[in-house]
Amino acid sequence: MIETAINCCELVSHMEDLPYSELVKCYETMSNTTRRTELTEALVSFYKKTPIKVLKKATYLNQGKLYPDYLGIEIGVGERLTERAISIASGLSVEAVRQLYRKLGDLGSAAQQALESKKQYSLYKETLTISKVYDTLDQIAKTSGEGSVDEKLNLLSGLLSNADPAEAKYIVRTAIGKLRLGIADYTVLDALAIAFAGEKEYREDLERAYNLSSDLGEVAEAIASGGLKAVRSIKITIGRPVRPMLAERLSSAKEIIEKIGGQCSAEYKYDGERMQIHKNDENVSIFSRRLEVITHNYPDAVKLVQSSIKADRAILECEAVAVDLQTGELLPFQQLMHRRRKYGVERAMEDIPVSLFFFDILMVDDKDYTIRPYTERRKKLQEIIEVGERVKVAPNIVTNHPEELERFMQQAIQDGCEGLVVKDLHSSYKAGARAFSWIKLKREYRSELTDTIDLAIVGAFHGRGRRTGVYGAFLLAAYDSEDDTFKTTSKVGTGFSDDDLKTITNELEQYKLPHRSPRVLSEMEADVWFQPALVIEVIASEITLSPIHTAGRGRIRQDSGLALRFPKFTGNIRRDKAAEDATTVNELVEMYNSQLKKVEASPEELQR
Ligand code: AMP
Repeated sequence: MIETAINCCELVSHMEDLPYSELVKCYETMSNTTRRTELTEALVSFYKKTPIKVLKKATYLNQGKLYPDYLGIEIGVGERLTERAISIASGLSVEAVRQLYRKLGDLGSAAQQALESKKQYSLYKETLTISKVYDTLDQIAKTSGEGSVDEKLNLLSGLLSNADPAEAKYIVRTAIGKLRLGIADYTVLDALAIAFAGEKEYREDLERAYNLSSDLGEVAEAIASGGLKAVRSIKITIGRPVRPMLAERLSSAKEIIEKIGGQCSAEYKYDGERMQIHKNDENVSIFSRRLEVITHNYPDAVKLVQSSIKADRAILECEAVAVDLQTGELLPFQQLMHRRRKYGVERAMEDIPVSLFFFDILMVDDKDYTIRPYTERRKKLQEIIEVGERVKVAPNIVTNHPEELERFMQQAIQDGCEGLVVKDLHSSYKAGARAFSWIKLKREYRSELTDTIDLAIVGAFHGRGRRTGVYGAFLLAAYDSEDDTFKTTSKVGTGFSDDDLKTITNELEQYKLPHRSPRVLSEMEADVWFQPALVIEVIASEITLSPIHTAGRGRIRQDSGLALRFPKFTGNIRRDKAAEDATTVNELVEMYNSQLKKVEASPEELQR
């Protein structure tokens, strides 16, 4: 038996495939570490032994997926069906499998134990390879229609019958969409740069390719097969979303002008849903800020694009804003969330129609505009958009006077906007980057915070009394883009209705971890830890220095971080934001500084 297994492995590597067990080893190392460097090292050594042919597949599998996110293809196996498949593969009854699941709280571990209890192994067990696992899961994902349940069951139980217990654990987690190893895209890019270009420094090239293609698998394959040259030839393409450029924040017009260094363009900042629109003749696809396909939610936006963009092929960005049918006024962002539904799309469209405010152009007729300066992009945008009642280009002014900026800001707020986004006239479109080429200027902070803050839930505390059975409070963290970590800033327990707590508790279940995520820096011990994924909106009275929280530690005072005083949940779960889109540590530092300035400012200044 053992000999056969060894022979199989050798055979497999010659065939340019890799035993799935190698991937499992990497998973085991990664789930047992709390150090980011070890995560990267595990990935590097895995990538080094992975044949090029299966590198793409392995990269998607690592992320618990089969394809890049934007294709929206899920493996889609339900838990009931998986329990049956485990039962077939292990010989245990479905009830016994279910009991294991209840006891362990994870179907993957239940599969592992079920197979461990198996008395006899089949003599003709096939060595599972990465391709075999990937292709079978792919077949499962593509099976639909009549008889598909049986077909899926056959495929999955077949796979599990050939798996050893540890393999079964990860196959099951992948199949039901709960692999969640928490490997950030940027960790994968680091690992690819080290494994195939020899140095982490080359990550920038990989990052650019990834930001333009949103496809880690493609980047992995390119670097391994054609080196940096192949990576650099990955281009912006219609139908494949570009990772969006993001804005930094400063608190005064004067600081913004100083930072940009002279003339800049200030545009209205609309409070709606960001859309990246890909137009290929009459074909229109719309991607959200998180790059999900949301075309089906917005048939009205599709029609507006078809009738008002004067270019055959283009990639554009706009903010879609809900408008009040009665008054024509812009409505707050929350209204738009009603448009994100599976059913009743037409009705929602009639109740909450949107207007589109365009602010950037990334490609026109196969020319990459991301590399061109803002002024050129803006000019082109104005050329190709036929402005109408519901389609506009975001209004702007070009100025180097802080007072003028302030006035424009007041006008923007009066017109129902959140403030301004001030842009560097010379900057290219920096895909995937949060940079000072775009700077947000929102409503002035008073001595109290009026702005909401979006934070990722990284931990929770069990509820007491009326809240028994759900979580009673949450540990929240800001995102630090400098080292790709989440740093705590608040423990919040107010503002939640009973229903909110139930919803959040249920939703967090899928992100539960046995220990703190290596990407989370916390000195506070939570009862339960989560992968940073769910973002909630909070308000607070002010930002204070804190000995316990890690956000902004050492930035204002040595040994102190930043904490929110009297934090309160606003009722908004920011499903439109990924954890990495949460308020950043830099933004918190900036907000803290601006508070101080306000306190120091004279009452007259505050009035102005
Ligand atoms: P925030 O979500 O607070 O980081 O602010 C940046 C967001 O503002 C972008 O992701 C867009 O969705 C939105 N936005 C609204 N108007 C504009 C504009 N004129 N230019 C760029 N972004 C805008």
